[in-house]
Amino acid sequence: MPAPSAPSAPPPVPPVPPMPLYGPHREDCPWCGSRRLRARSRRAVPGRSVLARCRDCRHVFRNPSLTSATEHPSGLAGAGLRHRLAARAILARCPEPESWLDVGTGDADFPRIARAYFPYTSFDGLDPTHRVLRARAVERVEEAFVGRLTDPHIAARLRARYDVVSLFQQLERVPDPRAELRAALHVLRPGGHLLVDVADPRRLFVLPPGTSHPAGLRAELAARGCTVLTGGRAPRVIARKEASAP
Ligand SMILES: [Zn+2]
Repeated sequence: MPAPSAPSAPPPVPPVPPMPLYGPHREDCPWCGSRRLRARSRRAVPGRSVLARCRDCRHVFRNPSLTSATEHPSGLAGAGLRHRLAARAILARCPEPESWLDVGTGDADFPRIARAYFPYTSFDGLDPTHRVLRARAVERVEEAFVGRLTDPHIAARLRARYDVVSLFQQLERVPDPRAELRAALHVLRPGGHLLVDVADPRRLFVLPPGTSHPAGLRAELAARGCTVLTGGRAPRVIARKEASAP
């Protein structure tokens, strides 16, 4: 009888190259191109990403943009309550979605909370980091996609697939928010609902008029064949993609 061979060592895990924490600092608004920007955070810390606001279109964004999950919005105080309120807001308009994609989901904190309101919905998660794979392993999401919504292979695979697509503070974090919005509508089926949470984390729920959303967001959604269902002062935008949408 041959001697048992030594157990083979597991294949080496390829090293993951470190991701840069921040993208380049911007001098112009990623939404409208205006250069009239104002830092929203009181204390600008060198080497840190701060919230900036465009004086022309009111888009609020992280400058420089984040390229890793170091400051994922799920880590912000009040995220749980915000997630519950967002889930209820969708429940009132779309009570039984079959499929839902949470974009920039991180550890899938939102699907974990939303599941209580939507027990029959299949939640998928997309994130540039591998955290989403861990979220799938613990069954917070059913399918996990590593990448960005604007990646061509993601767009091709997920086209018109979802009843609901949610973006929590995602438009603030990406270098091209218009492209992100287009990509979100691309993976939404006609009649599906888009949830965009763009609230300023310093003002979680009390939003003075005109400061909650980029002025261009509603116009952009309308131009892309969507009906905006929420009022201008709501802390999030919910829009329905009409069947006639391009
Ligand atoms: Zn702007």
